Amino acid sequence: MRYHWTQKDIFNACNKVQRLIDHETDPEKIAFYAQVIDSVNDYMFVTYADAHSRNTTYQEKVIEATECHLGYARYVQYMGAFLDELHPLYDDIVFLDETRLDLKSKRPDKFKFKRYTHEETLSLVKGFYADFDKELYDIFMKIYDERYKSVKFVKHYTDPDDPTFQESSGYCFYLGGINRAFISVDEQRGIAKVSDTVHEFGHAIRYSIHPSSAYSKENYYMSEIESVFPELVYLYEQGSKIDSFQSSLAMFDPIVHYYEKASLIRMQQMVINAWYDNRYRLDKNVYDRLREEAKMSRSDVYRALNTSIKVAGPYIISMGIVLELFNLYKRDKDKAMYLYKKIVKTPSLSDEFLKLLVLENELPLFEHLREETMQINANLANEFNMRF
Ligand SMILES: [Zn+2]
Repeated sequence: MRYHWTQKDIFNACNKVQRLIDHETDPEKIAFYAQVIDSVNDYMFVTYADAHSRNTTYQEKVIEATECHLGYARYVQYMGAFLDELHPLYDDIVFLDETRLDLKSKRPDKFKFKRYTHEETLSLVKGFYADFDKELYDIFMKIYDERYKSVKFVKHYTDPDDPTFQESSGYCFYLGGINRAFISVDEQRGIAKVSDTVHEFGHAIRYSIHPSSAYSKENYYMSEIESVFPELVYLYEQGSKIDSFQSSLAMFDPIVHYYEKASLIRMQQMVINAWYDNRYRLDKNVYDRLREEAKMSRSDVYRALNTSIKVAGPYIISMGIVLELFNLYKRDKDKAMYLYKKIVKTPSLSDEFLKLLVLENELPLFEHLREETMQINANLANEFNMRF
């Protein structure tokens, strides 16, 4: 058996949802099915065109970024808090990242990890969810049973001009109504293939419980909690036993990545301000001012404008929340699992829901973010000392 699905399978699945509409009289259900079909259209046509519209000028990009900052004010606020918390660790994070690159170029052999077959990967993922939680495992198994037609492993980070190009290391696409998941994971060496698959199944589990959560655009910033938490627990509990070096690297990766993205969003804000003061013109005055006041080069300005709050926000903010959960998990596993399941089982993760968790002190927001990040940094530094 091979792990495989194509766009045609999604198209066929979509037709099945269309047939449900044809035989349905309940207007609420019809509206939901229509939303499912819309999301497929978005995925197949709009997203691709969106992500690859290279003809957009920087003047247009700054206007778009301004709209995003207004529409996603809460994201900006949380991402700012994330950045401020991690700021004292900036030098450590950069140093570790450079050390990693340096070691990798000197000793590439130490970074050439074992290749896991698809079968091995899925069996490790299954083993993880069996230990993770009994109740979620039952839901996991329903998706797992369809794995040959619902999961595929393909190269993701490839040519941006290739129409099948995906910028992420995986994605999960879900069709409510017929309850079909389509999971794609980057084909890569090492246990990251396993942890990425654990991540995508985290999405699939929540979508199975609440199909509408796959399409909700509201409070999208909490949408990665369901996936990043099991991924982190996998690396901590099982990945580290297979290979502590790889698991330390995989835990450190998002820290560097999200710190950089959050910094770019902050720079984006500065570009918007300078542009605004310059009467909405992105010209030499703006670049000069940013260079003087914020030490930003032109390429920094371009990188900042090419970053999207909408895309980066959910990962950064969810990661901050997940590290709180993870901190709790190490102290009180039952309570952390109880909270995680509460999140996964809540149909709509509203601001009020999060506020309540924070207020009841069940999940203090970003309180242990720095501590957990320091631990992740220390683990990696320790691995470097041991191995090189
Ligand atoms: Zn995800």
